[in-house]
Amino acid sequence: MDKYNRVYNFSAGPAVLPVEVLETARDEMLNYKNSGLSVMEMSHRSKIYDDIIKTAEKDLRELVGIPDNYKVLFLQGGAHLQFSMVPINLLKNGIADYIVTGQWAKKAYNEAKKYGKINKAATSEDKNFSYIPDCSNLDIDPQADYVYICENNTIYGTKFHTLPNAKGKTLVSDMSSCFLSEPIDITKYGLVFAGVQKNVGPAGVQVVIIKEDLLRDDLPHWCPTMLSYKIHADNNSLYNTPPAYGIYICSLVFDWLKKQGGLKKMKEINEKKAKILYDYLDNSKLFKGTVEKNSRSMMNVPFITGSDELDKKFIEEAKNQGLIQLKGHRTVSGMRASIYNAMPIEGVVALVEFMEKFEQENL
Ligand SMILES: *Cc1c(COP(=O)(O)O)cnc(C)c1O
Repeated sequence: MDKYNRVYNFSAGPAVLPVEVLETARDEMLNYKNSGLSVMEMSHRSKIYDDIIKTAEKDLRELVGIPDNYKVLFLQGGAHLQFSMVPINLLKNGIADYIVTGQWAKKAYNEAKKYGKINKAATSEDKNFSYIPDCSNLDIDPQADYVYICENNTIYGTKFHTLPNAKGKTLVSDMSSCFLSEPIDITKYGLVFAGVQKNVGPAGVQVVIIKEDLLRDDLPHWCPTMLSYKIHADNNSLYNTPPAYGIYICSLVFDWLKKQGGLKKMKEINEKKAKILYDYLDNSKLFKGTVEKNSRSMMNVPFITGSDELDKKFIEEAKNQGLIQLKGHRTVSGMRASIYNAMPIEGVVALVEFMEKFEQENL
């Protein structure tokens, strides 16, 4: 525990934020950079806020290396609204291929079905989404407007380590739970979106990175203005009042990531943290991971003891040790440790030490 008596928070989201970011937000809370105002009280049309949102975009572009022909948007409505915005904006032929590797991809697939002929190009539902299917040669519809994936499956703890062969179609990725955990080659995608409450910031902000040639004026007449990517792009995310304070916190996180050494460095640190936990799971006689080894996520690590009773006891005792939110998603049970960018290595070490102790006492 740190000087603030903070616990180690393994929540899948809203999730842990860097202490340094929270300290800066605290220091700037009442009077942001001598403006006499809190960021929460500012006009989103003011010069000072314009600097905040422009710096956020500039830093994000620099961190990821986003090419000039992609727009960066800060939107609202959660990842869930992207499940609708993607098909509404991207369907032209009315056909898309979805790869269903978990609950979030399935929800996106079901939502898209309201707007067109949506194919399930592959799924891993046969084994409770515990692996990423081989997507090297899928039967992609020649008329498909895009191919959709959920790149890191927050609930199941799987991750695409190789992107699917989209057969030249636009690739769309829900990156909510792995965004900024490692370098991203944006040129491989037409559109990437991420709800920031997993790895980047507070709930309420949605980052969308979209290739300019996907922005359209000819959307269906019934498309609400607020659901048009083009409207938001033309207005630099200021068409209406944006989630201004949330974007400010994101900008502090982008700055923090730059200071950590960028995304290559974050990947190294995240690999190191994940290895500590997976190595322990692979050798434990009590706990075991639930995911196929070559599909493992660095961000969300699900595991079980094999006994619901022991799982419950573990979660309870861990909580008493300041290791919180280790309960698995309500649809899968067991445990899940989310170890996003802001989880310090000490937190993972503390978790493994506690697991070792629990194993000795309960085996
Ligand atoms: C959490 C999550 C969502 C849902 O996000 P909301 O902001 O609650 O809409 C969607 N996709 C992934 C991968 C997630 O982790």
